[in-house]
Amino acid sequence: MSNLEGQPAEVELPVDTDAAPCAELLEGRDVPLGRYTVVRRSLPNKSRRTVGAWCFLDHFGPEDVTGTPGMRVPPHPHIGLQTVSWLMSGEVRHRDSLGSDQVIVPGQLNIMTSGRGIAHSENSPTARPPILHGLQLWVALPEGERHRAPAFQHIADLPELADGGTRIIVAVGELEGARSPAEVHTELVGADVRLAGGADIAVRADFEHAVVVTEGVARVEGVQVAPGSLLYLGANRDRIRLEAEDGARLFLLGGVPFEEDLVMWWNFVGRSHEEIVEAREDWTRGADRFGVVPGGEEPLPAPGLPTTRLMPRPRYRR
Ligand code: MN
Repeated sequence: MSNLEGQPAEVELPVDTDAAPCAELLEGRDVPLGRYTVVRRSLPNKSRRTVGAWCFLDHFGPEDVTGTPGMRVPPHPHIGLQTVSWLMSGEVRHRDSLGSDQVIVPGQLNIMTSGRGIAHSENSPTARPPILHGLQLWVALPEGERHRAPAFQHIADLPELADGGTRIIVAVGELEGARSPAEVHTELVGADVRLAGGADIAVRADFEHAVVVTEGVARVEGVQVAPGSLLYLGANRDRIRLEAEDGARLFLLGGVPFEEDLVMWWNFVGRSHEEIVEAREDWTRGADRFGVVPGGEEPLPAPGLPTTRLMPRPRYRR
């Protein structure tokens, strides 16, 4: 998915604490995604830019796409990140400039590594189920990996954990001994959790964690969380307590705190103003760096740059 804001602003971050255990409920914001859809964006947030290397989180739907265009995200570029596409309902067709053409359905993962540059499109297939509901996440690539060649991985079979009424799919990284085959470049976890009652999930104490609820209402470490906000839990925890009397579904994010300062603008994750300007110019002039997405759709033009310099920013304001 793309950041389709016409004038994406840099995100200002307030004062932060360290990574001690905490429970901060961070409000998401509604962002239009093209003409047809509004998404709830939880990352980057006013008070948190990243959770581990997770640097972007949009929650879309559930939305009835019968008789609508559904998801329409034309070809657009990325640098410096991986995109993680996750569905709770519906189908999305991914095409990219490597030639990948892959529909995903719930329970499967599409993970695209932009490295130094890639372009992709995401659209609802012509024949599709009525309800579209999912998450689009980005993972920042660390310095040693961010200029690598682009790649795309589709994983149809992911490890599942079941305990009582709880079912967990480990989409990315490792949780309670179950490891996703998704190729990632920092230590992190992303897991879909369906709760029927209560559960204690064992987590790594050196990770910071956060939870978004995608269906129902859950209590996470005693804090009520509903769709639309992100509960940031800090680090130095061995377990996370989850409860949902009437059932709920959520996505758990975690990772080793990402200590590199990032410049995030539009669909680019970099380290300097100049890099972002160069990526924008490369996209605008159709440079080989990004390639061509099959399908013949008109590519998305880059928005204008802000009049001020883009500044590298830490995961929280120092
Ligand atoms: Mn995208």
